[in-house]
Amino acid sequence: MKIVIAQMKHETNTYSPVPTPLARFAVGGGEPPEGDEARAFYKGTGSAIGAFIDLAESAGAQIVIPVAGNAWPSGLVEDAAYEHMASRICAAVAQGCDAVLLDLHGAMVTQTYEDGEGELLRRLREVNPSVPIGVALDMHTNFYPAIAQHATAVAGYQTYPHVDMYETGQRAGRAILALLNGQAKPAMAWGNRPMLPHVMRQGSDDSPNRELQARCKQMEREGALCASVFVGFPNADIHNAGLSAVVVTNGDAALARRWCDELLDMAWELRKAFVYEIEPLALSMKRAQALADAGKPGAGPVVLLDHSDNCASGGTMDTMTVLGGMLDAGLQDAAAFAIFDPQAVQLMIAAGVGAQITLSLGGKLDMPAIGLQGQPRTVSGRVKLVCDGRYRNFGPMARGEANDMGPTAVLDTGGVEIVVISNHVEPHDLAAFVAVGIDPARKRFLMLKSRVHWRAGLRPLAQAVVECAGTGVCTSDYAMLDFKRVRRPIYPVDAM
Ligand SMILES: [Zn+2]
Repeated sequence: MKIVIAQMKHETNTYSPVPTPLARFAVGGGEPPEGDEARAFYKGTGSAIGAFIDLAESAGAQIVIPVAGNAWPSGLVEDAAYEHMASRICAAVAQGCDAVLLDLHGAMVTQTYEDGEGELLRRLREVNPSVPIGVALDMHTNFYPAIAQHATAVAGYQTYPHVDMYETGQRAGRAILALLNGQAKPAMAWGNRPMLPHVMRQGSDDSPNRELQARCKQMEREGALCASVFVGFPNADIHNAGLSAVVVTNGDAALARRWCDELLDMAWELRKAFVYEIEPLALSMKRAQALADAGKPGAGPVVLLDHSDNCASGGTMDTMTVLGGMLDAGLQDAAAFAIFDPQAVQLMIAAGVGAQITLSLGGKLDMPAIGLQGQPRTVSGRVKLVCDGRYRNFGPMARGEANDMGPTAVLDTGGVEIVVISNHVEPHDLAAFVAVGIDPARKRFLMLKSRVHWRAGLRPLAQAVVECAGTGVCTSDYAMLDFKRVRRPIYPVDAM
């Protein structure tokens, strides 16, 4: 038995000015790994592709990995990058195989295609109309009909933060192996509802996504091969952005339809709970100070979430609004993770550890799609540390995967230790802080450019959380997104 396993993952923020060339799909740049290199990179990690490798090995299958590309979210995927990966996957399947297992995102938009995943699957069906194809998708999938039309079985993450990537790979992979063994005949139904759940309200520890995902798990206990609700990714101005669901049963198409509709109806009923109320930044700063004053010493930091500029939602990670608010408020004993500014890092490296330096920090990238210009801020401090920015996750999300922040430096203003990085990474793992010599548990304030994923590895440290509205292409304000291509009407943008 021969199984083609591939990964092509990107969540596209169509408002983001951050480019998405092929090099972004490889940790540390270059071309994404293939073959034995890709297998060694992902074997033993908590990823969907890691699960595919384990499943195929236990089935005694020959494994072919034409490409394993995973990029931090950003703007439209460059056509050349897409063709590089898609053509390799199609070529491998054209060589002949018994099954295909794909670790995709579900919200990939390229310069040419609104539905990067659907287009890949359509091309694979041209190559081989009947080979079983199992697909693992992120919960932020913006689902298109082509995915359901061409895939054999689809499973989506059931957690946000995404700590079940591996299990999702197992769910999709097992459905395909059961088909190959003659033990199952996947029947799939999908659908969507005209709603854009807000990312800040999508956490799977919070209602209503908790209940939706619990019902998916219950359906799987009741016999569904895979049941998934996708909360969708709203910072994408594409026709099918928003909430969807897909259910795979063993041969019972009517039951798949019924269960899928039940999930969608449940989400629609609960739609108000997916709406997010934005707190003005000045109020957030006051509240953070009051919480720290009232908190017990040593109880952990008050976390300030800069949720408008999260690189794991396509943010530039260089807006200075929330950090500026902290500096203006004179917050002491604080750390900030992180500002993306490769130029500033080079200046700090040139100045040397221990040097006092004044920099124009952040704000290098304009955001024309939301009508904002980059606004750097002049910051003075001491260069506390310089490092290569490499680390391996040890927390529950993307467990064991390697990260590369590129050349990294810490600027200590006296009140705030600011981590400045050269490649995007979202702070969701304590390992990121270990790499830069900061113990976040002992800080009074901790600013994170994150929305929900920080909870995976850092939530247990925090004594309180304040969600701070800054600026950026992950803006929580739908009015700034000026939807032109999203199907209308859609809740809560339009009155329904
Ligand atoms: Zn996601």
